[in-house]
Amino acid sequence: MTGIWDGLYGPVEVRRVQPYEANKQYVCPGCGRDIPVGMGHYVCVPSEATDLRRHWHYACWDRRVPNAPG
Ligand SMILES: [Zn+2]
Repeated sequence: MTGIWDGLYGPVEVRRVQPYEANKQYVCPGCGRDIPVGMGHYVCVPSEATDLRRHWHYACWDRRVPNAPG
């Protein structure tokens, strides 16, 4: 089964959000917990469904995709 983080909506673009850029709180889909304001994290965007972008903790994404950038 292909999920949205496994290419269902095309390759996932992963970008780093620096701590100073993190001015909003998000919920990480990897662990279901908050990413507080001021914490660096990843924003992961399916290239064919950019409205499904989600913010992930570094550790949660790296655990999911061992070869993720960063
Ligand atoms: Zn997480």
